Amino acid sequence: MHPTGKAQMTDSGAIGVIAVTERGRTAAGRLQAAWPDRVRTSTENRAGEQLRSAFADCGAVVAFLAVGATVRALAPVLGDKHTDPPVVCVDEALQHAVAVLGGHHGGNALAVEVAGVLGCRPVVTTASDAASAAPLDSYGADLGLTVADTAPLAPAGAALLSGRPVRLEFDGDRAWPLPPLPPNASTATPRESAEALLRVSDRAAAPEAAPAVPTVVYRPPSLVVGVGSARGAAAEEVGALVDRTLAEAGLSARSVRALATVDAKADEEGILRAAAERGWPVRVLPASELAGVDVPNPSEVVRAEVGTPSVAEAAALRAAGEDGASAALVADKRKSENATAAVARLRPRGRLALVGLGPGARDLAAPRALAELHRASVVVGLDQYLDQVRDLLRPGTRVVASGLGQEEERARTAVAEAQAGAAVALIGSGDAGVYAMASPALDFAGADIDVVGVPGITAAVAAAHRLGAPLGHDHAYISLSDLHTPWEAIERRVRAAAEGDFTVCFYNPRSRRRDWQLPEALRLLAEHRPPHTPVGYVRNAARDDEHAAVTTLAAMLDGEVEAVDMYTVVLVGSSASRTVAGRFVTPRGYTWRG
Ligand code: SAH
Repeated sequence: MHPTGKAQMTDSGAIGVIAVTERGRTAAGRLQAAWPDRVRTSTENRAGEQLRSAFADCGAVVAFLAVGATVRALAPVLGDKHTDPPVVCVDEALQHAVAVLGGHHGGNALAVEVAGVLGCRPVVTTASDAASAAPLDSYGADLGLTVADTAPLAPAGAALLSGRPVRLEFDGDRAWPLPPLPPNASTATPRESAEALLRVSDRAAAPEAAPAVPTVVYRPPSLVVGVGSARGAAAEEVGALVDRTLAEAGLSARSVRALATVDAKADEEGILRAAAERGWPVRVLPASELAGVDVPNPSEVVRAEVGTPSVAEAAALRAAGEDGASAALVADKRKSENATAAVARLRPRGRLALVGLGPGARDLAAPRALAELHRASVVVGLDQYLDQVRDLLRPGTRVVASGLGQEEERARTAVAEAQAGAAVALIGSGDAGVYAMASPALDFAGADIDVVGVPGITAAVAAAHRLGAPLGHDHAYISLSDLHTPWEAIERRVRAAAEGDFTVCFYNPRSRRRDWQLPEALRLLAEHRPPHTPVGYVRNAARDDEHAAVTTLAAMLDGEVEAVDMYTVVLVGSSASRTVAGRFVTPRGYTWRG
C-alpha cells in the first residue's frame, strides 16, 4: 500500500482512499485489490490531514468517513468543481457510496464503481441525474464530443431541467449516436420556440450568426487533416498551412480527431511537431493504400516521389474512412511552399450494442450492460426483458418492444435504427450471442454501423452454480428447439455428444407442443452412460421463482422430465460426473481420480 503524502506528485489517475476504522480498512483493501494500480490507501489516524493531502495529490478521493466529517475537513481547501478531484464517501456499515463532490466530474461514476466493488448502493444527488437527464457538460463525452464554451452550460441546463423547449441540432442530415435527452429536448423542437440550443457541429460559427438563446456547441471528433511536406519543412509552416486550411473551410480545429500522412513522413519532424502542438494524434498510412484512394487533385510528380499521386487528400480521406466509415473531403488540397493540407469529414455512424442482461437477477447483469442501457437512445427487445430493466432507462429513451417469435423483425429494427444514426441497445436474457439476437442482427448489419457486444451470464452457467460444479470438464450446449433446425441435425449432435462423453446442457428443452424431444435426447445419452449419471435442471435460474433439482438419468427417463419447461435448462453429466453431498460435480481432470 502506498501512503498518501504531501511529497508525492499529483497523480490524476490515482484514487486516494482514506480509512481509519477496522471495517473501513478492510473495505479499502477490497478497492485496492480491485484497482491495484490506481488506489493509494491511507490508514493513518489523522483523517482530516490525510483527506486534504489526498485531495491535493490524487485524481479522486474515496473516504470511509461520514459525509459531515469529510465536508468539514475539506471545506478550507475546496476550489473549483472543474479542477477539484471528485470525492465519494462510504458509510461505516458499507451500505452507501455517496458522490459528495464533483458528481458531474467523475464523482457520480466513481460512486457507481465503488458501489460495484463493495456491493453497496451508489447515492447520486446532482440535479440533472436526479431527473435522469444527461448532464450537459459531459453529454456525448464518451463519443469524444467536447464543449466549445462552458458559459452557456448553466442557462441551457436550467432550460433543459425546467422542461422548457430545447433544440438539438446536427451538421447536415446525420446525427451522432448520443444518449437520450429529456422529452423537452429534441431535433424536432422548432428553432423559433427553442429557449436553448444544443448544437453538435464542427463548423466554426460566424460571429454574426450568434443565436439569441443560450447555445451549447459540442465539437464532434469528425475531421481528419491530411498533410504532406517536403523533407525538412518547418513545423511553423506546416502548422500555419493546416490552420489556414481549416479557417478557410470554416471548420473548427477542436473537431480534428487526427492528422494523417504517408508512411514516408512517419518521422518528419515538422509534421509531428505541428500535430503535437495542437494535441492531435498522427495517423500514418502506407503509400500503397493511399494510391488506391480516389481524389480530386492527384499529381504525377508526387506519385514519382512517394508512390502515391496524393498524400494530403488521400490520407485525410483514408484515415477518416477507417473501419468502414464513409468520408468526404471538406477542404481540397491547399499548398504552401513546402507543404500540402486537406481536410476530410467522416459521417457519424450509428451504434448497435448487443447486450445480454444475464439470467435474471439485477446483480448478475454486468455493470457494462447497465451502462449500455443508460447510453442508448433506442432500446429494442422482448417485452419481458424490457420490463426487467425499464427503471434503468433514461427518460426520453425510445423503447421498441416486440413479442416472442419475432426475432428477425427485432433484429432488422435494431439494425435499421442504428443505420439511421441512433445509439441502439438490442437486449436479451443471458448472453446476447447464445441462441439469441446477436447473430441475426449481425447478419443484417453492414460496415456502416459500429457494433459492440456486452457478455452476459448464460443460463447454463447460472444454472451450474445452483447445481454444483457440473461444467468442470468439457461440455456441449445443444438446443432442442426444432423450430429452426431439423430434428435429424439435433439428433446427430446429441449422438456425437453422447459418444464424445461430454456433459450436455440442453437449452429450449421442452414445451407443451414439443414434449418428446427431451426424453428422446436423454435416451440417446443413456446408451453411453450409466443410469445413475447425475442430471440437474434449473427453472428460472436467478429469478424470483427459481427451482433447482439434482437427479439421475434414470429418474428423468422415468417421468421426471415432466418438471421441465421452456424456462428450464437441463444439464446431463458425463460418465465421470458424480453427486457429492447432493451436488452435481464433474471432475476437472479424468486422470486426477484415476
Ligand atoms: N440467450 C439466452 C438463451 C436463450 S434460448 C442465454 O444465454 O441464457 C432460451 C432458453 O434458454 C430457454 O428455453 C431455457 O432453456 C434457457 N434459459 C434462459 N434463461 C433461463 C433461466 N433464467 N433459467 C433457466 N433457463 C433459462
